[in-house]
Amino acid sequence: MTLANWAAERMARPIIRDDEPPAEFDADPLADLCRSLLVEIGENPDREGLADTPRRWAAWWREFTDYDPGTVSTAFASVASDQLVVVGGMRVWSLCEHHLLPFNAEISIAYVPADRVLGLSKFGRIAQDHAHRLQVQERLCAGIADDIAELCGTEDVAVVARGEHLCMTMRGIRTPARMTTSVMRGVFRTKPEARAEALGLMGNG
Ligand SMILES: [Zn+2]
Repeated sequence: MTLANWAAERMARPIIRDDEPPAEFDADPLADLCRSLLVEIGENPDREGLADTPRRWAAWWREFTDYDPGTVSTAFASVASDQLVVVGGMRVWSLCEHHLLPFNAEISIAYVPADRVLGLSKFGRIAQDHAHRLQVQERLCAGIADDIAELCGTEDVAVVARGEHLCMTMRGIRTPARMTTSVMRGVFRTKPEARAEALGLMGNG
């Protein structure tokens, strides 16, 4: 910006009264919520260590819920429709909608391509897309399966998630445990041998 432009922009701005804070200092409702939370749990939100916490907390919530998975819809023509494709070991973090506490889940996906296959990176994007919202593990699995089925044009989709939930390990019974959920559709539902092969390749056999 040139000096002349800067001066012109300053002149064009409305006059701000002394008691009116500039727009960039507008209250952030999420940061306000965090301040209220800190007060409710007996903290002083103005003490040094917490001074910037409401802003960081608000930024984290926005970052988590505004997650952009990028392009997930790129599919290629399938060259081998009789093959079983398994993508495993994808680790995602989500938030339990009952307690607003994190859970992580290792996701494995299997499908039999009909006429389209998905690029490898798309599986991770789809899993992250469903993880970046308030969730329960069962719906996380089902949502991923829905997307894979739609994008690949196949009913033969299996999704397995193995999750560790902080609402179980940190509160309640405070016992470390892993919860496994699975969605089996198409041949994985109707043919035990297809299900066994998929589970074996997913590391759940
Ligand atoms: Zn929970």
